[in-house]
Amino acid sequence: MKRVFSLALAALLLAGCTAAPADGNERSTAVTAETSTAQEAETTAAAPSPAAALRPLWLGDEKQYYMNEMVTGELIRYQVADLINHVTEVPCDVEGCAHDSESCPAVFRRGECDRVFVLDDDTLVAFTNNQFSETEDSQVVLLDRNCQNRRVAATIPNSSFLSLGYDVASVPYTDGQYLYCSGWQDGYGNQAAMFRVDLETGESSNLLESAPAQGLQFLGALDNQFVFSESDLTYPEPTGDLMADALTAPTGTITHWLFDPYTGEWKAFQTYTSDDGSLDRMYSAIVDGQYYQVDREAGSISVVDPVTGEAKLITDQYPTDQLQGSFAIQGTVQGWLLFYESPMVHLETGEIREKPNLPDNYWNGSAHQPNIYLNLGDILLVDCRYEPYTRTIIGTDGTPYTVDVEHEYLGLISTEDFLNGVPNYTEVGEYII
Ligand SMILES: [Zn+2]
Repeated sequence: MKRVFSLALAALLLAGCTAAPADGNERSTAVTAETSTAQEAETTAAAPSPAAALRPLWLGDEKQYYMNEMVTGELIRYQVADLINHVTEVPCDVEGCAHDSESCPAVFRRGECDRVFVLDDDTLVAFTNNQFSETEDSQVVLLDRNCQNRRVAATIPNSSFLSLGYDVASVPYTDGQYLYCSGWQDGYGNQAAMFRVDLETGESSNLLESAPAQGLQFLGALDNQFVFSESDLTYPEPTGDLMADALTAPTGTITHWLFDPYTGEWKAFQTYTSDDGSLDRMYSAIVDGQYYQVDREAGSISVVDPVTGEAKLITDQYPTDQLQGSFAIQGTVQGWLLFYESPMVHLETGEIREKPNLPDNYWNGSAHQPNIYLNLGDILLVDCRYEPYTRTIIGTDGTPYTVDVEHEYLGLISTEDFLNGVPNYTEVGEYII
């Protein structure tokens, strides 16, 4: 988990923001199935209804994986891992180019093209301007698959996007007709927004203008509905004892809402409250388009249907001692639900099995199992190797100093090898951040 958090933090730093958004997925949960108080929205109901499933956009596909790095404080450079030819390169064919200035086609000013997602075989999309102080408007930008031919598809005034690309809560979505990206209106961290962009016309709107609550946090999508978390929690008054305060749980209620972007309808989906203990007892997460619910005390894991609210039990035999602390779902691979450092569960049979470990990666003084960067069905892109090196940095006073860090390398591995702990990697190059 440490590695995951450090990645997210690094990305946030790269994006230039100061505070990580609260992670609602980690926060607990319980079964109060379907207390549907459907609430008709007025302003968003006008959209046509393609009713296609919402599809998350990722930082890569079976052909390429896109990364970028800071060149200077203001410039970023793209690097692309070619997953077919197994090399990582700067997407630039200018002869003799040092790839360090805006004359390089792979170099962008920050805020112009912060992170690209694969829209289709020919097109990338970037939701730019993640809360940089020098700009207020945000742009949706399309590019060719080689990171070139940048064109602005839409401009959304006084807004910023959340588009880090780490999980289902930080990626944009499409239904084939519209693009969707969560973010904020009126400044970073201010008013929660879900922007819908019509690529044909460039028109955009904030679908949360008619939301039933303020401060909603985006969690992901289930079929053709978005899920948002409303948090009404009270934290205990500080006692002065930092350790004791940190361990004292908040009280109150978390509500997970389903939002249909086509009809504008809001529906309370799940509620977790300290009144019945479910706030602490339950964990929920959206993974690969499914809503999983874990009862830490009962050792049960279920998947909840967004339409009927019905919870289908996967197992009630999961060892409860594994469900404490920083327990979290990692993903689904070949019908198995994977957890960080805990046994995996088969989604159909409910079988619980220790996943044989791959060799540990060592990063920043601690060991971790490979993380999944891209899940391509039969193949995964993971961090497969780290090499220590000493990096020289020029301090603000011009004095150089060194830090010991690691180069991280990405590799492809079959899901079968991954599940069996067989480190049969095909390296594709260095991970760039
Ligand atoms: Zn170049």
